[in-house]
Amino acid sequence: MMVETRTTFWQELRQRFGEACRLNEPLSRYTAYRVGGPADALVVPQTVEDLQWLVRYCQQQRVPYRVLGSGANVLVHDAGYRGVIILLRDCCGQIQQQGTQLYVGAGVLVQDLVPYCERHQLAGLHFMSGIPGTVGGALIMNAGAFDGEIGDRVIAVDALDAHGNRCRIPREAAKFGYRQAPGLQGLLLLGCWLQLEVGNSERLRQQRQSILQRRAEKQPLDYPSCGSVFKRPPGDFAGRLIERSGGKGMRVGGAMVSPKHANFILNVDQATASDIFELIVQVQQRVYQEAGVWLEPEVQFIGFSERELKKLKQP
Ligand SMILES: Cc1cc2nc3c(=O)[nH]c(=O)nc-3n(C[C@H](O)[C@H](O)[C@H](O)COP(=O)(O)OP(=O)(O)OC[C@H]3O[C@@H](n4cnc5c(N)ncnc54)[C@H](O)[C@@H]3O)c2cc1C
Repeated sequence: MMVETRTTFWQELRQRFGEACRLNEPLSRYTAYRVGGPADALVVPQTVEDLQWLVRYCQQQRVPYRVLGSGANVLVHDAGYRGVIILLRDCCGQIQQQGTQLYVGAGVLVQDLVPYCERHQLAGLHFMSGIPGTVGGALIMNAGAFDGEIGDRVIAVDALDAHGNRCRIPREAAKFGYRQAPGLQGLLLLGCWLQLEVGNSERLRQQRQSILQRRAEKQPLDYPSCGSVFKRPPGDFAGRLIERSGGKGMRVGGAMVSPKHANFILNVDQATASDIFELIVQVQQRVYQEAGVWLEPEVQFIGFSERELKKLKQP
């Protein structure tokens, strides 16, 4: 059921955005896990001005909103999301280059950015090869692999604050850390300025191929997942701890801990979000009992109540 607010709110959205606003849109179509119930509305603004209008209107009417990148690191509740889900692919999809600096819109896919860098002989982002998602999602998560993180390359982040006003957050203020950027919380990211280096296209292409190959060898990419479910605990690896506690192959409904990489929980057979959530809880508890380490989820939960999320907090 939609958030209880005057029906005019939803009518106004439809009027302003037309086909770019879908009511009761199933989010399973927009998440890597292929699960998740409907959002009250899903809007794809065409311009930053439209986006600012939307943020201000939601604030004014007290309707929650949330940006979804490509849904590669989220678990959306089976009951969906009460509020407005925003996609930035149309209003924040540009890349602009000035020498070795790039401005990249938050809606740009990492899988398009890496080949762009290759074509334009720009080095510094190749560790991102094969990381699914948008630049906005990568910034919020400070996505990375092979000892690199996107935050290392950021000069500043372009964002909207909670009032819909545009602001520029310098890298230091973003406070990039391991799979987090606390200084960006509560902001809607529009893009970022990146500092890269001059590189060689052919060498960059080879690097990308070799990274993709390594990822395919290590990761179970045949089934829907969110990548690593848990963050790396200090001095150890979540996958190693899960494997040692006998977690590989554990199942709840259609969700299973990957036998290939224990930190991946896969949707192997029409899993529900509830199957995946329950399995995350069980794995976390098993590792705690066996190894005394409380694994912190990396995956972001959308539409879950505080009461449900409490199950994932350290007792
Ligand atoms: C097979 C697989 C492999 C993966 N491997 C890696 C890896 O090697 N390294 C790694 O770091 N991650 C990895 N991931 C996780 C995922 O790819 C990253 O976290 C990615 O950065 C998520 O981007 P996204 O656009 O899909 O964000 P989403 O999953 O859509 O969103 C993630 C969070 O960011 C918020 N958000 C997204 N965009 C914005 C914005 N513009 N403004 C404000 N908030 C925003 C969302 O609300 C949500 O809270 C993997 C995932 C999969 C499925």
